[in-house]
Amino acid sequence: MRFGGVVGRQIDANVRNWLIRAPASNPGLLGMFELRDRQPVPNLVPWAGEFVGKYLISAIQSLRMSEDPELEKTVRAVIGRLLACQADDGYLGPFPKNVRLTANWDLWGHYHIMLALMMWHERTGDDAALNACRKAADLMCKIYLGTGRRMLSAGSDEMNLAVIHALGGLYRKTGEARYLALMREVEKDWEKAGDYFRTGLAGVDFHRIPRPRWESLHDLQGLVELFRITGDARYRQSFLHHWHSIRRWDRHNSGAFSSGEQATGNPYQPNAIETCCTVAWMAITLDALRLTGDSLAADELELSTYNGMMGAYNPAGSWCTYNTPMDGTREASHHTIVFQARAGTPDLNCCSVNGPRGLGMLSEWALMRSADGLTVNYYGPMDAAWKLADGTGVALTQETEYPLDGKARIVLRPEKTSEFTLRLRVPGWASRAWVTLPGSPPANAVCGTYFEARRAWKAGDTVVAQFDMPLRCESGDLEAFGRMSIYRGPLLLAYDQRWNDFDEAGIPAIAPSMLAGAKISFPSPSADDARIGRFTPWLVAEIPVGGTVLRLCDYATAGTTGARYVSWLPAREIPPPPPVPAEPAEGAAVPPGPIEFRWRRPAAADKDRGHTLVISQTPDFQRPVLELAAGTGRRVVVSGENAARLRPHVDYFWKLIAKNQHGSTVSLPPFKRFRVDPNLPPSTADPMSEYGERADGVLLCADLAGDPKPSHGTLLRAAGFQPATGKTGEPGTAVRLDGKTGMLVYALNKGFPSYEYTVSIWVAYDRGAERLGQVLSAWHHAMNDPLRICIVGGKLFARIEAGSAYSTEGVPVEPGRWHHVAVVKSGSQLALYVDGKRAGAATVPIEVLSSARDVALGGNPHLTGQSEHLACRLARFRMDVRAWTPEEIAIAAKW
Ligand SMILES: [Zn+2]
Repeated sequence: MRFGGVVGRQIDANVRNWLIRAPASNPGLLGMFELRDRQPVPNLVPWAGEFVGKYLISAIQSLRMSEDPELEKTVRAVIGRLLACQADDGYLGPFPKNVRLTANWDLWGHYHIMLALMMWHERTGDDAALNACRKAADLMCKIYLGTGRRMLSAGSDEMNLAVIHALGGLYRKTGEARYLALMREVEKDWEKAGDYFRTGLAGVDFHRIPRPRWESLHDLQGLVELFRITGDARYRQSFLHHWHSIRRWDRHNSGAFSSGEQATGNPYQPNAIETCCTVAWMAITLDALRLTGDSLAADELELSTYNGMMGAYNPAGSWCTYNTPMDGTREASHHTIVFQARAGTPDLNCCSVNGPRGLGMLSEWALMRSADGLTVNYYGPMDAAWKLADGTGVALTQETEYPLDGKARIVLRPEKTSEFTLRLRVPGWASRAWVTLPGSPPANAVCGTYFEARRAWKAGDTVVAQFDMPLRCESGDLEAFGRMSIYRGPLLLAYDQRWNDFDEAGIPAIAPSMLAGAKISFPSPSADDARIGRFTPWLVAEIPVGGTVLRLCDYATAGTTGARYVSWLPAREIPPPPPVPAEPAEGAAVPPGPIEFRWRRPAAADKDRGHTLVISQTPDFQRPVLELAAGTGRRVVVSGENAARLRPHVDYFWKLIAKNQHGSTVSLPPFKRFRVDPNLPPSTADPMSEYGERADGVLLCADLAGDPKPSHGTLLRAAGFQPATGKTGEPGTAVRLDGKTGMLVYALNKGFPSYEYTVSIWVAYDRGAERLGQVLSAWHHAMNDPLRICIVGGKLFARIEAGSAYSTEGVPVEPGRWHHVAVVKSGSQLALYVDGKRAGAATVPIEVLSSARDVALGGNPHLTGQSEHLACRLARFRMDVRAWTPEEIAIAAKW
């Protein structure tokens, strides 16, 4: 396959200015393998072993699309040297003998190398590559199969357990039973780690699973392998659930994935969007496409490719980003994550080696083979020499200006006249589409499906596909509330400082009705300077707004010269953003009685938006069973009386319609299902409360007057405590925690409040220990702590870990002395009060969707292996689902 146009130019640039050069400019790529057992032990990042594997995956894919002899020579040399580095026992990493495959991200590193070696074997038939891959897998079996030792013990589990994906591919190639046996062991380890399979079956949204970091997406690919190997449809179901969940909750407007390296359930959050994460998202989207043949998965790949991915590359090909934000600037990964660089590997980091894989995947999805023919997923200038399932060769050419123009002429040249089915993706974003078959007038095609034509195709047959691509918009929510993204065809548009004479703050608000007046032009790259030409926008849309003109360019070239760019543009008169159903979980059984439905919380400022809940027995919603107006919030309770109209043990579908005076938006299909199970015990929670709080907003209340028992809420466990004197010296008015095992843990059955809350507590801690001690923590797992109030080095902090870490400044607090501490979250504001006075603040995510189901006083409820206990006395603990006023806090601060 050869690609032309903007994509072809970028593939070529990546090959010439990165893939061919990287091994020589970074000789430590393999040097680190050669010196792994020397002294002093090299100081590598724990994932250094992945660099060569990721490099090779990208390079081999790019070879398929370029057949560049220089690249072929480079890759061959890297493979040769890599194989020469394999130890006698099969080890293929850069770490010393005593920790081979048992520490670091060593299994993860091998995972990438194994994928690359299998790809090389497929391309060249080189048995040495496949044998090396087997030897590495055999070493894994020797260490972990039937030895009582578990891969989980290697740590960094979402990374290391992803090797299941490579083991699956290798098992299918070799039929070697022990590779499947080892996959089965990984499956067991998953239950104590990311728990991907079971959470997928239970309909748990991906951002709520125990390991929502991006590396887990490669574990999900293991589910696909298990499905392919066993045919057990539950693996497919679990995988597809997670894929849809990420698409609904976490995929950004640019088609990119991740906020702070993980799923957070909020694609509007202005956190870093890592290149590796988008590559992983595209990899599982490709799996979803293969599994379902659903054209919407191919639409997703197109969106990611033309926007998030193309935007991650320097147009000259010499670098890619770590972070490609929705609004901001483009920095080279060499500079953002330079901490990964070492002597001999100045340009190597997780993203630089992985980036070209984003375009490399085109070699796997642009065209696809089916048993009965050929599917065209990608539009853009290209030539391909293809083979049908029966081996008949077909040359295919696309003559088109796509994505700048919606018309693509596809010329087929089968080596002999052959009957087969040609499928053409009809993009879901198109407003209208036509396909013209040879000798026929244009026929309407249904957007969001494949157009199919089966006939005897002969050389020279030409098919024309045409898609209408007027400017269209999508409204933002939460941090992007009051803003919109504008698209033309598959391209996201953006403001770039270079093309406007006003700065970001001066961008005028535009209304959707103005888009029809936009003038689109296609600047031509300056013919005499191909290098500068790369930075020319693909298109410019000029939108008249009042007395001025807003110039937007394609997102991919926005910011490429270092200017600031914005893809969430100030807007007015916009319809609501798509609502996202949360609970009941997909496929959930609910008890009889009232049923609570929840969705993503709308921005607090959105006062105009109402919701309608629609329940139907069929996914087409032709005959709804229930329709309920649900106001502006994020939840509605279907009364017991209404719920009684639902038949037990019958699957119902539900969707949401958000509406304001400018239009309405429906939640994305596939729609979630639930059923009523009359055998389940009726829910005891008050259906009218969101988190189990009392009518006055009190979620947890424990006076701690010598005893941890709460007056509202549930005590889960208590250790290392005894009655103590409170502020007035009166015995039995506080609780002392010993700083060793001392901890009081309270249940949060309906989760930790995500948007607003207040915590109020009295604290006197023992002495100024330097290590961190928790007054309160709701930590669930790494980077997933919706609130921690901690003391480090005599200073008190309020913090949130949600993808990134957020902290107030530290407030000095004296040991031995009683202080009143209050923390108030109200949307994006986290405020810390000490002794009734506001003492610190931080800007935090508006919605913090954590996995926390409990909260601890005096320690970290789930951390093992290190201590965050705080020796202290505590009194008068209270937590409300409501932001207190400063006056209320001042009153609470009087003992
Ligand atoms: Zn990365």
